[in-house]
Amino acid sequence: MKKTVATTDESIFQTYRRYPVVLTKGRGTKVWDDAGREYLDFLSGIAVCNLGHCPPRVVKAAREQLKKLLHVSNFFYTVPQATLSDLLIKHSFADRIFFCNSGAEANEAALKLARKYSLERFGKSRYEVITMSYSFHGRTFATLSATGQDKFHKGFGPLLPGFTYVPFNDIAALRKAIHASTCAVMLEPIQGEGGVNVPSDNYLKQVRDLCYQKEILLIFDEVQVGMGRTGRLFAYEHYGIEPDIMTLAKALGGGLPAGAMLAGSKVAESFTPGSHATTFGGNPVVMAAGAAVMQELLESDALENCRRMGDYFQKKLEGLKARYPSLVRDIRGKGLIIGMELTIEGKEIVNQCLEEGLIINCTLDNVLRFLPPLVVKKAEINRCVAVLDKIFAGV
Ligand code: PLP
Repeated sequence: MKKTVATTDESIFQTYRRYPVVLTKGRGTKVWDDAGREYLDFLSGIAVCNLGHCPPRVVKAAREQLKKLLHVSNFFYTVPQATLSDLLIKHSFADRIFFCNSGAEANEAALKLARKYSLERFGKSRYEVITMSYSFHGRTFATLSATGQDKFHKGFGPLLPGFTYVPFNDIAALRKAIHASTCAVMLEPIQGEGGVNVPSDNYLKQVRDLCYQKEILLIFDEVQVGMGRTGRLFAYEHYGIEPDIMTLAKALGGGLPAGAMLAGSKVAESFTPGSHATTFGGNPVVMAAGAAVMQELLESDALENCRRMGDYFQKKLEGLKARYPSLVRDIRGKGLIIGMELTIEGKEIVNQCLEEGLIINCTLDNVLRFLPPLVVKKAEINRCVAVLDKIFAGV
């Protein structure tokens, strides 16, 4: 352990604050460190391992593909890419997909498509994108500029021009911010990194109507909340609306790096050969894993379990809120993305959870975030709640 930690600390950029734990194995909801200690993982690699660690169907699909073909250029067709795109299109609003490798890349593609479509459709440069305060869209220059949180911008200016931020869940503010050069509104249906913020019931429908009315594109960043995390395959399904463009990543590859930008056919026409590209996007091994993830989400009871366990977990956390009213301010979430807003900083609570063998994290300094695999069981939720109870009792 010591050698791994020392080598990492000496040689890798210090962009992460890591826990002094070397993880070597994962199965389902559990991971193990190099000393054999078991941890209950309620972070899932930050909403990546939605089917748990090393889900057998995904591992098998990737392994079979590894034996056949590791990589080819996008100048050629491959079966896994066709299989995954077919599954995503059949089960979403979209007609076309661009595959890439991460959430930031998927959002870059979405922003480029929105600008190009608007130029072609309206014959003039409508380039501004309205995003939300406390949003998170990635760390590249365009996605950083789209991200409505100053703390991520510091030291990197000037940012890309053409982004305006408005408060999330405030339709009047959005309406006021739209003007002649606006080409799109981009938002997370439920904000993840910004503190697990769930909009009120009719907000997204109002946003959708406003975008239709003003002829601007609606982009949903479902990088964190897509692929079953909220109890539906895609979060937009809860709200009876469809975006024009949607981005996915994180759980799409079941643990392998995958991203995707999806759009309806009319918008998608603006991307033609040469408009956009990536060397690794659509890699056959990753696509085979992604297809297995989709099949498992569609055929197993993971989505149903997510809804049931999500409700159960929220109720149990509400119980903690009632027991510790001076510590817990709010519980919010949908399915198995749940935030617990504290009245104190959450860092020390997260550290103590780790000592108790429970992995969670904290966003915005004081919102504990729970993202267990969708296959989590009641007993595991009970254990998480018992750990929190013990720690809160000692605060
Ligand atoms: N969009 C959202 C909503 C995210 O939560 C994240 C990452 O946390 C990203 C985009 C960026 O994804 P990636 O880290 O894969 O670039």
